[in-house]
Amino acid sequence: MRITQDYYLIVDVEATCANDNSIPRQRMEIIEIGAVILNSKTLQLESEYQSFIKPILHPLLTEFCKSLTSISQQDVEVAPLFPDALKEFQSWFYPFGSYIFCSWGDYDRNQFKQDCTLHGVGYPFPGGHLNLKKAFSVATGSKKKFGMTGALEKLGIELEGVHHRGIDDAKNIARIVRAILSS
Ligand code: AMP
Ligand code: MG
Repeated sequence: MRITQDYYLIVDVEATCANDNSIPRQRMEIIEIGAVILNSKTLQLESEYQSFIKPILHPLLTEFCKSLTSISQQDVEVAPLFPDALKEFQSWFYPFGSYIFCSWGDYDRNQFKQDCTLHGVGYPFPGGHLNLKKAFSVATGSKKKFGMTGALEKLGIELEGVHHRGIDDAKNIARIVRAILSS
């Protein structure tokens, strides 16, 4: 889990979803980007970023999605489209210069690639990706794969904020990384 870059750019996205197969994986779209910058030397959180995004394929959020994420129709209705949100997001993290894009599992990276293809914009993370779910299993010497809540539980850390909100998930993931690195 240790890195040579100055910062962990920890990203967690929420996306359109349904519990009745009406939104297949390839048609899911990001509706929230949550991200934090964790200094890899001091382990301090230096900055955080949050944006909702207006989806285009399934503009109306399902009841299931609203209840899972606690994101409202109004939140996404007034939000920018993906290309504009991405520009703003990039202008937030680019100045940190030396960072590694991280997320819990590969889902967030794949969802970013999918949304970039959908909107015909460039993928913003050319510098690779650190899968923290895998890194957590390696660091704890466990063969098991842990969800974010399972990892918090294993470390005896209480979840802060609301699970399945991008910004809160990103902050909780940062607390897991900090706990591992400072142990
Ligand atoms: P998470 O980062 O765990 O909050 O999940 C990211 C996205 O994955 C959510 O915004 C949903 O689109 C999808 N997702 C997560 N959990 C579920 C679930 N139990 N059923 C359907 N979709 C889910
Ligand atoms: Mg999440």
